[in-house]
Amino acid sequence: MSVAAKPLPYQEAAAIVREQAGRLAAQGSRGREELSLLEAQGRVLAQDLVADRDQPPFARSTRDGFAGRAAEFAQAGPLEVVGLLRAGECWTGGAVPERGCVEIMTGAPVPAFADCVVMVEHVERRGTEIALEAGRVIKAGENVVPAGAEASAGAVVLPEGTRLTAHGVAVAASCGYAQVAVWRRPRVAILSTGDELVELGEQPLAHQIRNSNSWTLAAQVRALGGEPVLAPPVRDDAAALEAAIRTAAATCDLVVLSGGVSMGKYDLVEPALEALGGRFLFTGARIQPGKPVVFGLLEGSGQAALPFFGLPGNPVSTIVCFALFVAPVLAALAGERGYAPRFVQARLRGRLECKPGLTRFLPAQLTHAIEGGSVEVVAWQGSGDLAATAQANCFAVAPEPEGQQGGVLVEGAIVSVLLA
Ligand code: AMP
Ligand code: MG
Repeated sequence: MSVAAKPLPYQEAAAIVREQAGRLAAQGSRGREELSLLEAQGRVLAQDLVADRDQPPFARSTRDGFAGRAAEFAQAGPLEVVGLLRAGECWTGGAVPERGCVEIMTGAPVPAFADCVVMVEHVERRGTEIALEAGRVIKAGENVVPAGAEASAGAVVLPEGTRLTAHGVAVAASCGYAQVAVWRRPRVAILSTGDELVELGEQPLAHQIRNSNSWTLAAQVRALGGEPVLAPPVRDDAAALEAAIRTAAATCDLVVLSGGVSMGKYDLVEPALEALGGRFLFTGARIQPGKPVVFGLLEGSGQAALPFFGLPGNPVSTIVCFALFVAPVLAALAGERGYAPRFVQARLRGRLECKPGLTRFLPAQLTHAIEGGSVEVVAWQGSGDLAATAQANCFAVAPEPEGQQGGVLVEGAIVSVLLA
């Protein structure tokens, strides 16, 4: 049975997650709902957004200036300004004679006779006459965006399966969408396990721990457009675990457990999943924190297989495992195509210790300077240290060294960073 299988290198575990996410994204059969445009922000489109007319709908001036014929600007001598066009108006002044031009504002439709717009800053004006300033050349097409150059009527401006960002809201509004169809939020069961856990609002005894992971996971689920379904913490008891998983599986699209997947005597999550017919795709990944993470499918009677994750209970392990493994599956269930954890490269401040047999993800601070962004690991006490992690905005990646020797990346090294 695969439960006893060895932890996989990070890249292999990530590849399995990608493959399953691809399968789930293609599966379809998720419901849609119509939402008003702003409500749809952060959700995944269940329809193509289509340009209802050419964009721009007319040849648009991108500058305040003078619309005219480039060939005439190229000849010596002034041009006569025969009229003025504001944004929101169209030219009704009739034919424009040779060596005539029209004063025009940004966003106004360039009259048909003109093939360019000279910026107001680039002309000398005397009364009703203008001339290009000395040494300035203007080409046909300059400062004009032709009708349909950005999108032609009927073109897909944003395909189904795209998560709607502020940019997406912008293009949707420009095409007249007051409402858009989005995929239903996937329901994600969140089951925290552990005899030591108490709920928010209860006073923990000296030896007890507040259940923070359920809230962390709920927040992460919501950020990706899922609907967290929270249950009270489950005791470290085989029957209680099986019952809780069975209930969760009946009503949710994904089951995420926290705690109980390590080697302890009361780590009973894997046997419970196995007893319910769970098929494990990996049991452990060579990452730190988060090594005991498990991923698999519950293959119930007749229904599509239900993905599940068992995340180690250490709070930072939970956060990292969610970002690396749960997020791509959740995004796929939400209908999003091509989601992947976001990595960037940055210059290291301080040091980063690499450990044999592990890809490490260490809470870190990334500075977002326009040039030379750098990253520094925050001081922490290990994978239970939420106080340190709350100061972090990313995880610096210490790659798994080849062979059995550890190593150290030093100040100035270029390292990968997982954006949180
Ligand atoms: P486990 O993975 O069950 O062995 O738990 C590892 C560590 O994480 C222990 O110190 C637990 O007390 C802690 N832990 C487990 N579950 C949670 C939770 N839901 N919230 C906060 N800490 C937890
Ligand atoms: Mg436990």
